[in-house]
Amino acid sequence: MPMYEYACTKCSHQFEELVSASGSTVVACPVCNSGKVDKLFSTFQRVRVGGGGLESAPAPTAGRAGGCCGGGCGCG
Ligand SMILES: [Zn+2]
Repeated sequence: MPMYEYACTKCSHQFEELVSASGSTVVACPVCNSGKVDKLFSTFQRVRVGGGGLESAPAPTAGRAGGCCGGGCGCG
């Protein structure tokens, strides 16, 4: 099940909640029990960015503005 981060619109408390794939999970703030919460983002993405090990890899398209004329397409 994916885990999402929510922010309560009533007391501004932020918390994480596991939700079912069907999206039928009712999320309520654990502090004030309000059901009015905003979904922020999946924590899976945040974990993947901070994992490390990929920072030394060169960016594939850095410095090539056109995306073409780099050899191989025959336009040069
Ligand atoms: Zn709240």
